[in-house]
Parts: sequence; structure tokens; C-alpha cells
Amino acid sequence: MSLIGAHVSAAGGVYRAIERGEALGCEAIQIFTKNQLQWRGAPLPDGVCERFLKKWGKSRIRRVVAHSTYLINLAGSEKIRKKSIDALADEVIRCDQLGIDDLVLHPGSHRGDGLETGIERIVRSLESLFERTDGLRVRILLETMAGQGEGIGASLDELGAVFDRLGGHDRIGICLDTCHLFAAGYEIRTPDSYERLVGRVDRLFGTGNIGCWHLNDSKEKKGTRKDRHQHIGAGEIGMEPFGRIVADARWADVPCILETPKEEQGDMRNLSLLRKLRGF
Ligand code: ZN
Ligand code: ZN
Ligand code: ZN
Repeated sequence: MSLIGAHVSAAGGVYRAIERGEALGCEAIQIFTKNQLQWRGAPLPDGVCERFLKKWGKSRIRRVVAHSTYLINLAGSEKIRKKSIDALADEVIRCDQLGIDDLVLHPGSHRGDGLETGIERIVRSLESLFERTDGLRVRILLETMAGQGEGIGASLDELGAVFDRLGGHDRIGICLDTCHLFAAGYEIRTPDSYERLVGRVDRLFGTGNIGCWHLNDSKEKKGTRKDRHQHIGAGEIGMEPFGRIVADARWADVPCILETPKEEQGDMRNLSLLRKLRGF
């Protein structure tokens, strides 16, 4: 079965994220292992990692996914790219220390230097990241993007190009965000369109390389390329498509993470909606 959960805050110590996830009944959670608006976090002391692992072990949370900082841009100019590889390597090490296998990454923005240049930079950056963190198994999950600005990854083919050039490396996977896919123009609302999308995903990456779903409804209409998350069933996507995803046996053991607004109905209600749609 899919693992239903939410992005939870790690404020007050990473182990607090486990407590928050438990309180919500999450089967999987997503966290930032450091402040998402800073390049570097203070090193994680041994005691903190132990405490996190112990709490997690005792909880009903099966999987923890990390999301990397928004500052990282592997498709940027040389200076920003170097800084980004350092920051990403630091995050990979933090994940390894916390026993987290998957780190979600926004592919990057070419900032006007062109798509081909951007893709090439991402590939080279990831190759050097894998070299630098050789021996660690933390996987990078490239997230599908809504297509704002010069961001790369609104098209599955762009992510496919990165994936292919890395030769389907075992440390690379994909994170599918429903709001982003929809904003980027992918129809997912009907059974047929969903099957078409999954078929395309399977051809490009293999369904086994989908490491995470982000389940977000969209405030904006399809194809607007605007990234605005909405509560499940309260946006332009509607309730049903989410049921299809969480009940799909192809996503067994794959975290299905809410990144919906924290205000109004909140995580509790969105999570119970997803469980109801899954059937248990
Ligand atoms: Zn993201
Ligand atoms: Zn997302
Ligand atoms: Zn988003």
C-alpha cells in the first residue's frame, strides 16, 4: 500500500518531526534536515541522530523523506553551482546520519543560459555529488516542477534527459508532485489521463524509480505554470484523482506526502480524506 503522510516541521530538533508525524497518524513524513532558507546547517551531533533514530524506530512511521533547501541550483552559473554541490553533499551526509534514504531536489534554473546548458550542468553536478558521497546510498529524487521562470523539470522529458544521461544511476529517482504536474499542463483528473501519465512515467523512468509522490491540489487551473498548493479536493484537481494514486498498487511503500497549506482544514483532515479514499 501507499504510505500516506505529510511534510512536518522539525522545529525544536529533528526528533520532534517524528512526534508530529506520529500525532497525525502518518505512515511517512517529509522533513527539512536544516533551515530550508540557509546554505548550511550546524552539524548534527551524534546524540541528536540517535534520539531521532530511536523515536522513529518506536513509531508507526515507515519512511522518512527529506526535502533539500530551496537555495540549491545545480543548473546555475559556475559559482552558484559549486556552492550548490557543497550544500547538497552536506544534506546527503545529514540524511545518511539520520537513516534517511531519499532526498527531494528541485532540479534547478538555467537563469537564461538555455535549457540544454541547464540540463548538462545538472548532470555534471549530480555526477560530482555521487563521486563525493561515494559509498552512501542516499538517493536524489528530482521533483517535477510547475514551470515558473526558467526552472527545469516542468516537462517529464527534461527530467528524462537528466535521468538518461546519468545512465539510470541507482542513486537517482523521481518525485511526482500532483500540483506541479497539473500546473505544468499534465491532465491527471480522469482514469484515462492518469493511466497515460503513469505509462509515460514508466517509459521514462520505470515506476520502480518513483521514490515519492507529493499530493497537493492546485489553486490554479491546468497549464497555468503557477505553483499554488490547495487542500485535497478543494482545488482544480478535485478529490478523485488522489484516490486513484493512494489506492494504486504500483505505489506500494511509496511515500505520498501532503504539502498542502497548514491553515484552515489542515493536515489532520487532508490525511483522513486520503485514508478514506484509499479505503482504510
Ligand atoms: Zn519541492
Ligand atoms: Zn512538492
Ligand atoms: Zn509547489
